[in-house]
Amino acid sequence: MKKLALTLIIMTLVVSSAILIVNHQTHQGLLNNSDSNHMNSMDAAHKKENTSNKMKKETATTTSKKKEKKPLQQKKDTKQVVITIDPGHQKHANTEQEPIAPGSEVRKYKATVGSMGIITRRPEYAITLDASKMLQKKLTKRGYKVILTRNRNDVDLSNQDRAKIANKHHSTLFIRVHADGAESPDAHGFSIIAPSKNNPYTKKVFKESQKASKSIVQYVKQDFTLYQSGISYRSDLSGFNWSKVPVILVELGYITNPQEDRNLTNPKFLEKLTTSIAQGVDHYLDENK
Ligand SMILES: [Zn+2]
Repeated sequence: MKKLALTLIIMTLVVSSAILIVNHQTHQGLLNNSDSNHMNSMDAAHKKENTSNKMKKETATTTSKKKEKKPLQQKKDTKQVVITIDPGHQKHANTEQEPIAPGSEVRKYKATVGSMGIITRRPEYAITLDASKMLQKKLTKRGYKVILTRNRNDVDLSNQDRAKIANKHHSTLFIRVHADGAESPDAHGFSIIAPSKNNPYTKKVFKESQKASKSIVQYVKQDFTLYQSGISYRSDLSGFNWSKVPVILVELGYITNPQEDRNLTNPKFLEKLTTSIAQGVDHYLDENK
């Protein structure tokens, strides 16, 4: 009996320990799993932190992206719009000749120095560069990509070259900036020259060029005097005829008129005038979308 009892006890012990071992192992296994989880969970915690940081960052980026989405999107859209500005003339004339239009027999000087301020003696090419840089700044601020055909006076760029720069950039608008000159010192006022309707070289861009001109005139005339009706049309300008994109030429005013010469060499005046031009350009492009 004793033996049997002992055997039973031993067996029970063996069985229980076996169960215990199995249980333990199972538990261990579970523990191991959880441990491994836990052990990794340090890493995981790290990872989690990193991930959550990343996620936070990503979320932040997404949020900021979301927040900025509208203006960014708008900016992106307008940034695809390229405006080329050509500051008229240059420091040294180039008296070589070029055809005024593709295939044309009529030729004109490649580049001239332009007029000169009757009082200030400031050359037109310097005034047009000042104004163009101001206009570029204002239009860039509005989100447009703005190309200048030149950013210094000592260049050699023919009118054909300048138009080709506008073409190359697929410009939505090509703005040529000039200051007017006349024999009479009385002539004064801002005006725009646009390509004429029946000119075969600019037929495709006539409508848009006219629309842009009208929009600019509308803004400029609120604060400045216009010369005559404000818009005139020409078919003999190389800078128009070589242009495959809508093109206009703004005449800032007459530097052969004493008052306008002083005005156009005054940065404050020029800032105000280029602001009005930029508003007109912006309005035109807004409507054009
Ligand atoms: Zn000029």
